[in-house]
Amino acid sequence: MDNRPDLLSLFPEELEALLTALGEPRYRAGQIFPQLHRGLSPDEMTNIGAATREKLAAATTYFLPRVARKLVSAMDGTVKYLFELADGNCVESVLMRYEHGVTICVSSEVGCPMGCKFCASTIGGKVRNLTAGEILGQIIAAERDTGEKIGGVVMMGIGEPLDNYENTVRFLRLVNEKSGVNIGYRHISLSTCGIVPRIDDLAALSLPITLSISLHASDNETRNSIMPVNRRYPIEELMAACRRYFAATGRRISFEYTLIAGKNDSEEAARALSLLLNRNLRTRTETMPIHVNLIPVNEVENTGFRRAGTRAVAAFAAVLEKNGIRATVRRKLGADINASCGQLRRDSIAKRGT
Ligand code: SAH
Repeated sequence: MDNRPDLLSLFPEELEALLTALGEPRYRAGQIFPQLHRGLSPDEMTNIGAATREKLAAATTYFLPRVARKLVSAMDGTVKYLFELADGNCVESVLMRYEHGVTICVSSEVGCPMGCKFCASTIGGKVRNLTAGEILGQIIAAERDTGEKIGGVVMMGIGEPLDNYENTVRFLRLVNEKSGVNIGYRHISLSTCGIVPRIDDLAALSLPITLSISLHASDNETRNSIMPVNRRYPIEELMAACRRYFAATGRRISFEYTLIAGKNDSEEAARALSLLLNRNLRTRTETMPIHVNLIPVNEVENTGFRRAGTRAVAAFAAVLEKNGIRATVRRKLGADINASCGQLRRDSIAKRGT
């Protein structure tokens, strides 16, 4: 095992301490950190002497995720990357173009341990956590590849960010570094299936990011049947955690609700969802700003789940609106390149035959 620190996971002050220990002047960190975060390897830093670069290379590791496959949507310019990591494992990232700028969806783990029944990322379980540098590296590599500045991040790729809590928090702080990638917390969303104690830990940090909860059902029986995490942290506990998160941070929470035909897409289910959110989060004493993202399920082979029809989706959204809940139907970007996370990695594993 290589115990040397990974350069892309270091905070500026840690890089400074490391360079000082190597006998380098303090200002070197201020030269090296911004270049690392622009996608340059130490070898490419022409303003750093060869002797310093050699010392650094001997004391640390460096690896930028390598573009193993890249698909560009002819419809909307969405770019889907399959990135290969230093150990040969692959993760996916998706670059999405909106009117207000470019946003990237990043992965937080290789595979996922959570077992949601409709999700491609969890087939085969979790292989390992990503380091903070590997999560950040997806952004740096995409910026380097496209030459474009990325303005927003969603942690909605492969993996459960709150199952890889320490590295996720380190990543959030790194990506926010002024002399690095410099993406503001308000332009970062973190999506979780609902690991309640870690939601509380995150709330205690009070980072002004947007928390997104993958809800997908409003009663425990249905949610248990599609999301095993609900057996550990049922809906009532999740709602209580949302209240605590809002009380601590004042930030709105958004909810993701994947519409699966015949499972959770009826108007009755929409009324139940309205009731759940209004009763728990929008009482007379609490008026939490909330938003529901409706996502017609992407059909994953062998899961048996089918997309809700367009009419059912519209009717579902209408019931929420009628009950005072803002809802949007997620626009499907990159429909021609299968841009939902998890599927490209599955393809690559299938082709390798492992
Ligand atoms: N583990 C985190 C983040 C990754 S998944 C979480 O659970 O939130 C990002 C979102 O995509 C989640 O809301 C997830 O439930 C949803 N998702 C997963 N598979 C999907 C599929 N086949 N169709 C539609 N949405 C899916």
